[in-house]
Amino acid sequence: MAAEEPAEIDAFDSVLDAIGGTPLIRLARIAPPGGPRVYVKAEFLNPGGSVKDRAALAMVLDAERSGALEPGGLIVEGTSGNTGIGLAIVAAQLGYRLAVVVPDKTSREKIAILRAYGAEVVTTPGTVPREDPAHVRQLARRIADERGGWLADQYDNPANPAAHRETTGPEIWRQTGGRLTHFVAGVGTGGTISGAGAYLKEVSGGRVRVVGADPEHSVYSGGDGSPYLVESIGHYRHPDTAEDLWPRSYHLDVVDQVVPVGDRESILVTRRLAREEGLLLGASAGTAVAVALRVAAGLSPDDLVVVVVPDSGRSYLSKYYDDGWLDRLGVPVGHAGELTVADVV
Ligand code: PMP
Repeated sequence: MAAEEPAEIDAFDSVLDAIGGTPLIRLARIAPPGGPRVYVKAEFLNPGGSVKDRAALAMVLDAERSGALEPGGLIVEGTSGNTGIGLAIVAAQLGYRLAVVVPDKTSREKIAILRAYGAEVVTTPGTVPREDPAHVRQLARRIADERGGWLADQYDNPANPAAHRETTGPEIWRQTGGRLTHFVAGVGTGGTISGAGAYLKEVSGGRVRVVGADPEHSVYSGGDGSPYLVESIGHYRHPDTAEDLWPRSYHLDVVDQVVPVGDRESILVTRRLAREEGLLLGASAGTAVAVALRVAAGLSPDDLVVVVVPDSGRSYLSKYYDDGWLDRLGVPVGHAGELTVADVV
């Protein structure tokens, strides 16, 4: 039989159109049977491999509209890597240059990816105080000022949470047929949880509970701000001086609860997701899924939990998936094949 002529070409005009529209995938093996359904929002399937493609695109389009970013101009950002990768894709496609400042704990894979897209990468210590000129955000601002660039400033840029209010939140609501009861996400800039969380609360008439997932010691969940291993989420600063310095992208009124998770548990859950669910993810996904499992433990089969898994494990093969790296940092996990549920709960 002759192939039917398709009426239209079924393709995107550019990689930018492939951002968003990620699937929900059920955790069929890790989530205990008899409890609520738990789905991951598979943000690692964005073209840049992370949730931050959404915010990067929204921030650049907004800056083009306002005139803050001129044609062919320089984009500058302080980022734990993924926003930089998102910006690099947008910059390549729309004809901008990009300089990114990353904290020194950023994985070497992410730095290599940024360079592969043609971005200029500057590393700086990740634990210096906000006031220090070497702090990621201070340094990014200085580079933008000195070179006449536009600072994307994801921590304070309203286009970041707005991207999730306009895309991530509505996608989740539609994909769950409005049956969602609990939404779990890690908090970095706060853009994902604030934007998607606000939309989901509004559309459900306040029924959806919004739960933040945070590394233990991070100030978002009341920690003292001392360092931790999981990349890209949480906040180091001490709460006594922090309140008004917290990112404007993080809207505390949207979040019902923020749950801390230790590095070891986050990493063990991350590794289980690869081996038991076939989902190779970063450790912020492990943190978020660890919280989702705790939340799910108290729920009924009628409940429905969605947890954002922000990026791919391919960026961390030299870290969370490397037993030697973990041993050196004092997080022995044994051989991943020997992990049991008892290790993580
Ligand atoms: N996980 C990863 C891997 C990320 O790169 C980010 C962004 N920093 C987050 C979680 C947190 O997302 P958000 O900035 O929207 O809070």
